[in-house]
Amino acid sequence: MTRSASTDPGAEVARARAGAKSLRRRDLRSRLGYIAELRRVVLRRREEIIDRIQADTGKSRSDALVSEIFGTLDVLAWTERHALRHLRPQKVHTPITLLGKRSETWFEPLGTVLIIAPWHYPFFQALAPIALAIACGNTVVFKPSEWTPLTGLIEDLLAEAQFAPNWVRVVYGDGAVGAALIDAGPDRVMFTGSTKTGRAVLERAAARMIPVELELGGKDAMIVFDDADIQRAAAGAAWGGLTCTGQSCTSVERIYVHERIHDRFRDELVRIARSIKQATDSDGDADIGAMTTDFQVATVRAHVDDARAHGATVATGEAWDGQSRLIPPIVLEGVRDDMLVATAETFGPVLPLLRFTEEDDVIRRANDSEFGLTASVWTADKQRARRVAAALEVGGVSINNVMATEANPALPFGGVKNSGFGRYKGEIGLHAFCNVKSVLIDKNANKIEANWFPYTRRKYELFSRMTENLFADGPRAFVRFLRAALALESYSDKAGKQGR
Ligand code: NAD
Repeated sequence: MTRSASTDPGAEVARARAGAKSLRRRDLRSRLGYIAELRRVVLRRREEIIDRIQADTGKSRSDALVSEIFGTLDVLAWTERHALRHLRPQKVHTPITLLGKRSETWFEPLGTVLIIAPWHYPFFQALAPIALAIACGNTVVFKPSEWTPLTGLIEDLLAEAQFAPNWVRVVYGDGAVGAALIDAGPDRVMFTGSTKTGRAVLERAAARMIPVELELGGKDAMIVFDDADIQRAAAGAAWGGLTCTGQSCTSVERIYVHERIHDRFRDELVRIARSIKQATDSDGDADIGAMTTDFQVATVRAHVDDARAHGATVATGEAWDGQSRLIPPIVLEGVRDDMLVATAETFGPVLPLLRFTEEDDVIRRANDSEFGLTASVWTADKQRARRVAAALEVGGVSINNVMATEANPALPFGGVKNSGFGRYKGEIGLHAFCNVKSVLIDKNANKIEANWFPYTRRKYELFSRMTENLFADGPRAFVRFLRAALALESYSDKAGKQGR
C-alpha cells in the first residue's frame, strides 16, 4: 500500500504541481484510459472497499454498495463515455461583423485542484471529483475528512490503476491542514462540507484570489400533493430521509403533505419506518447503519428534543436513548415551520411531517429557508409539478422521485443560497475544472479592421450607418447594413494603410 509520505501541505501541493507536467503530456483519450482502468479496479475490489467504508462510517453494506460503489462507478463510466465530446474544442457562432473568422472554446487544465471532502460519503466524495479533475488534465491534492480518512485506500487504488504518484496527493488531517493547503495556493478549491466551514474556506481562498466551488448543506423539502400515489411517495420519503442514516446533503429533511392525505401518508410512512432493519451488517441484509459521529448524534438529539418541547410528537423511534449511534427512524408529527428540525440541517434519520393545503403557501414555506440544495415534488398533475419545480429556490428538483437528480452523472449538481455555488458533474461540472479558453482565429491576411485606427469623421458616419441597420428590424435594414459594412470595410482598409 502506498501512502503520501509527507504531511507537509505546502510540499504536497508542490508535488502535485510537479505532476502536472507529466499529466499534460497525456492527451484526453489517454487520460480517460486511466479513468477506465480505475473503474475496473474499483469494480474488481468493491467488496474490500465496502469493508473499508463500513469500518470508517458504520454504514449498512447495501448503503455503501448503492451510493458509494455504484455512484462512483457511474461517474467514472459517464466520464469515459462523454468527456471526449464535452472537452474537445467547440466551434461557436461567429457574428457577421466578424465574417471570415472562426471562434472556438478550448477546455484546458487549470493546474492543481484542491478537493476537500466531508465524512458521510468518503469514497464517492473522493473518487468522483478526483476523476473529473484528472479527466480535465488537472493534478489533485485531496484532503479527506479526519473522521473517515479511509487511510491509504485511495492512493492504493490509484496506484493499481497506474496513476503516477504525483497526479493525486492525498493529505490527511483536520481543518487546520485544509486551511494550510489553501494557503499553499492551489489553482482551484472544490469544497464539500458544512456551510460554516464553507464560509471559512471562501474567506481564506479570497485572500489569495483562488476560485472556489462550494457544495454545502441542505434542508430539502419534499412536497406531496393530494393526487400523488401515497404508497410510492411514502416509500420515497422513507428512502430519501433515511438512506445513509439520513446523513446526506440531499436527504429529505422536511415533508410537506397535503392535509387531505396527511394521515394516510403518515400511517404508511410509520409502517415503513417500523420495518427498517438497522445494522452495520456483513451480508447486505440491513436497510440503514449507524451514525458516523457522536457530534452528529448530539445534533439529532437537540433537534428532536426541541421539536418535542414545542409540541411535536414522536410517531416512531420512541425507544432511542438519545445517545446510541444506532438512531432508529424517527417520524415526527405536528412539526411547525419555526422548529429547529424544520429550519436547521438535522443530518440524521428524522422524518418531520408538516401539513399544507395551498400550493402557493407550500412553495413559500419550502423557500423560506437559508438553504437551497434540492427538493422533490409529488403529484399526478404534470403541469403543477413543473410549475412548483420552477418556483422552488434550489439547485435540483426531482419530480415524483427523490434524490434522483444526483443519480444521473449527466446532470450538474450544486445549490443556491447557503447551500453553496458552482456545479459539478455533467458537462457544466467538467468545465468547472477547466480554464475555458476563448480563441478567435483569423486569416493571416493584410486587411486593416474597421474598428482599428484611424478613427475619422467618415469612418464614424459609416460605422454609425452600419450599426443602425445591423440592429434594426426587417430585411431591408439588413440590405442597408450590408452596403454600409462593405463601404466601411473598404474605407477602413484604405485609411489604415494610407493614413488619415
Ligand atoms: P465540515 O465542514 O465539518 O468538513 C468538511 C471538510 O472540511 C473536512 O475535510 C474538514 O477537515 C475540512 N475543514 C474543516 N475546517 C476547515 C478549514 N478551516 N479550512 C479548510 N478545510 C476545513 O463538513 P462535514 O461535517 O464533514 O460534512 C457534512 C456537511 O457537508 C453537511 O452540511 C452536508 O450537507 C454537506 N455536504 C454537502 C454536499 C453538497 O454537495 N452540497 C455533499 C455532501 C455533504
